[in-house]
Parts: sequence; structure tokens; C-alpha cells
Amino acid sequence: MVLDSEIKAQLNQYLQLMENDVLLKVSAGSDTVSKDMLALIDEIASMSSKITVENVLLPRTPSFSVNRVGEDTGVTFAGVPLGHEFTSLVLALLQVSGRAPKVDQSVIEQIKGIRGEYHFESYISLSCHNCPDVVQALNLMSILNPGITHTMIDGAVFKAEAESKNVMAVPTVYLNGEVFSSGRMSIEEILARMGSAPDSSELANKVPYDVLVVGGGPAGASAAIYAARKGIRTGIVAERFGGQVLDTLGIENFISVKYTEGPQLAASLEEHVKEYGIDIMKLQRVKRLEKKEFIEIELESGAVLKSKTVIISTGARWRNVGVPGEAEFKNKGVAYCPHCDGPLFAGKHVAVIGGGNSGIEAAIDLAGIVKHVTVLEFMPELKADSVLQKRLYSLPNVTVLKNVQTKEITGTDKVNGISYMERDTEAVQHIELQGVFVQIGLVPNTDWLGDTVERTRFGEIVVDSHGATSLPGVFAAGDCTNSPYKQIIISMGSGANAALGAFDYLIRN
Ligand SMILES: Cc1cc2nc3c(=O)[nH]c(=O)nc-3n(C[C@H](O)[C@H](O)[C@H](O)COP(=O)(O)OP(=O)(O)OC[C@H]3O[C@@H](n4cnc5c(N)ncnc54)[C@H](O)[C@@H]3O)c2cc1C
Repeated sequence: MVLDSEIKAQLNQYLQLMENDVLLKVSAGSDTVSKDMLALIDEIASMSSKITVENVLLPRTPSFSVNRVGEDTGVTFAGVPLGHEFTSLVLALLQVSGRAPKVDQSVIEQIKGIRGEYHFESYISLSCHNCPDVVQALNLMSILNPGITHTMIDGAVFKAEAESKNVMAVPTVYLNGEVFSSGRMSIEEILARMGSAPDSSELANKVPYDVLVVGGGPAGASAAIYAARKGIRTGIVAERFGGQVLDTLGIENFISVKYTEGPQLAASLEEHVKEYGIDIMKLQRVKRLEKKEFIEIELESGAVLKSKTVIISTGARWRNVGVPGEAEFKNKGVAYCPHCDGPLFAGKHVAVIGGGNSGIEAAIDLAGIVKHVTVLEFMPELKADSVLQKRLYSLPNVTVLKNVQTKEITGTDKVNGISYMERDTEAVQHIELQGVFVQIGLVPNTDWLGDTVERTRFGEIVVDSHGATSLPGVFAAGDCTNSPYKQIIISMGSGANAALGAFDYLIRN
């Protein structure tokens, strides 16, 4: 039995929702992965009379496609979609059977309207929590548009193929044989990259807002809801709705919810914001703020939004180490997400730059997958909690280098080593390895503000107890501010605080 009894019971319920027959075309060999794939397919097919199976030869073995009877959809899974991809398989079965997807009708129309041939291939790992969104989006596009196909490829099963294409980060998506994207993307982002974005000219003609929130993470979502609940005209403009939460796996400290996962929380945030009449503008990057009669927010597209008050909640991003080779070899051996990309380095030697909690957690995680991990810490001692250090030092395949400065990440077409300087002797050393995970903390997304509001030397926006910045009418919340702790619940609290602060300001002015 491939599926445990609890999952099987849940799956049984989902399969009851299938509307029409589905044909699985299966290409299997005699290898163990093929056997696992066949066992999974047999188990699923035995649970619904609507599922039939046919043996065929597909371009990759082991693989199988999910089709309507008499019509190929182009949705193929190469490997065994268990782990994080099991949901992608269940959704594919339901959607191919005719079940309506939970996506805005405008997005569905956009997909159906795409003309031309688009053959997507996405390289994933089953432990990657960023991959299912991409896989599910591309599957849905294949199901809705006959010109689009998508094959999910497990990089651990098709290792030689992934290596020949230098895939060192997942998800990596190819379109018609060329690299299309790397990393998590929403369906709207994929459509925008394909040049099928909805008309953005309407952004230029928006009526001024009472409150305009910039940023769609926990702080921004909370600020927008609190503002809208006061009955005032509220807008939210964000590049990636969900923010850092999208990159988070398990969340156990969102009080009153014992356990959730980042993408699930991000979806709930958006769902909650949509409950109010908030004008949501996604996939829009803000580049300038200026105070005139209104506060003006200029978008990268050139459109200018106007508002009586603005709440900045642009959060933070991974800090780069800033050495030669880092940018050049990003996704070619330089990685930032151990959960996602760790499996691609199985059996290899990797480095983790950073000896704080995130660096040491990454090193412990990676040590279970790769051959050897070298940790590089700039300071004479690791900064991680002692419980993590103890666990790290108990592992046989980890080397810790302290008081060293990373100088260069070397490589040709991909990473082949790292150079560092021993700070006490100034001797420069080089280690041959295949991967570098950068884990040196976060930097606030506030560069675009220039001198318009006061910021600390770390770039954090200085706010008072009402969330107000140094510029009247402009408020800020969450990880982009000088709040000493950066957490989801704290960001949400400060978003609410800033919205109430902005409302108070509006009443008084
Ligand atoms: C790997 C990881 C794991 C974590 N685990 C936990 C955890 O378990 N528990 C916990 O409480 N916290 C955790 N955190 C921290 C938590 O995710 C953050 O504190 C929280 O997301 C901050 O929320 P925010 O809204 O301030 O910013 P963010 O989540 O960073 O959101 C920023 C928003 O602003 C947008 N934006 C940025 N720049 C622009 C621009 N120029 N124009 C338009 N939009 C822009 C972004 O696209 C995004 O929508 C984790 C963080 C990471 C990275």
C-alpha cells in the first residue's frame, strides 16, 4: 500500500467529486520507481470507477498523463507525484474530470484566450514547498487551453536529465526548450511573463484612496482589512501577494492555529482581504513615493496612484553575501532555500554561509541529504541557539569554519568552489564544492523610498507608537520597520496599528 489509511480516506472523498471519466496513460519500465508509480496508480484507479488506465510509451519513463477520454490534455507527471506534489495529482484528476478550479473567472478567460503552442516542463523536488503552486498553475493552463502542455519532472528521478540542463534550483521551468523561470510563481505571474497580463492602463485612472497599502504580506493584508472595516476607500498594491509567508514551510506560532503552511496562510490572507471592497492591485512594483496635494505612489509601469494616507508594508528579502560569483551562479549552485533545493545536491559537498539560527537549521537539514556541509561564519563564534549548535556538532559530515570571510563563489557554468579568508591570519583558502546556501538574514525592501521618510542605518523605516513615519500621512508596518522582532503575528499587529493610526490621522486632517 503506497498511501496510508488517513490519506486514502481523504482521497476517497475527493475522488467522489470527479465529474467525468479520466484516462491515465502510463509509461512504465521494470525499475523500482516505475513499480512505485504503478502501485500508486493501481491504488488510485481502484478507488474510482471514473478512472481507467492504458499502457503507452511516453517520452519519459516512468511517467503518466492525465487525460479526458478521447482528448489528451497535455498534463504529465514524470516520476511519482507524492510528497508535496500529491495535491497536484489530486487537483489534476478533479480538474481534468471537469471540476471547476478555484481561480478567478478573469484568469480562466485569460488562459483560454492564449493563442499558440506552449510546451512547459517543470523540474521539481518532492520536498519543495514552492513547487506545487507552479505545477498546479501549469497543469490548469494545460487543462484549459489545447495549445498548452505541461510535464512535471522529478529531478531526483530524472537526475541525469536535470544535471545535463544544469538544473540546480527548483522549480525550474522550461518553455519550448528554453529556461522560462526559476522559483515560485503564481498563475498570474506566469501569465504576465508570457505577455498575457490584463490591461494595466486602468491603473492610471484610479480615483484617489483614503488609505493605500503598499505590500501584500501579513502586515499589508492586516492594514488593508482594518482600514476597509472603517468604511473608507482602501487599496492594496503588491508585487507578490502573501510576501515571505509564501516561502515558509511549517508555521507553528501563528497563535490559535497550531500548524499551518505558508502557501495556505497566504491564500487565507488574500481570501480575507477579498471579503471587503478593497481594490487589490497584484503584480505591481512600486518605485517612488512623493507628497504633493495627495501622497503619490508611482508604479514601475509608470502609473501613479494617489491617496490621502499610505501604509508602507514592503517587508524584507534574503540578504545577499555580495561577493563575486553570487549573482552569476544564482540557481546554478547558489541557493537560498534549503528545503526546496537541498535534494538536488544529494551526494554532493555544499557550503552554508551564515552561523545564525537559519544557517545552522539549514546545515542540519542539508547534512541529512548531501555528502558534506561546510558552515562559514564571519564572527569568532556561531550565533545560533545552543540547542541547534549541539545538534550540528553531533553530525559526522559537517565542518564549521569560524572567523572567516567569504571572498568568492567560483565556477564555470555552475558552482565549483568557494574562497574564504581566515580573518586572523588573512590567509585565503579555497574549497571545492558544488553548492552554496546563503543564510545571512534579511534586508528591508525600502531602497525605493530614498530620503522621503526617516530610516535607520539598516534601512528600516522609523515608526512611532501609531505606526506613523517622519512624513505626515505616511505610515509603515511589519518587517520593513524598526520593530525589533520580525514575525507574522507581529507584522499583522503592526499592520492593524498603522491602519488605525492612518484612520485617526484622516479624522483629524
Ligand atoms: C523562510 C522563512 C520562514 C519564516 N517562518 C516564520 C514562522 O514560522 N513564524 C513567523 O511568525 N514568522 C516567520 N517568518 C517571518 C515572517 O514571514 C515575516 O515576519 C512576515 O512575513 C513579515 O510580513 P510583512 O507583511 O511585514 O512583509 P513580507 O511578508 O515581506 O511582505 C512584503 C510584501 O511587500 C511586497 N513588496 C515588497 N517590495 C515592494 C515594492 N517595491 N512594490 C510593491 N510591493 C512590494 C511583497 O511583494 C510582499 O507582498 C519566516 C520568514 C522566512 C523568510
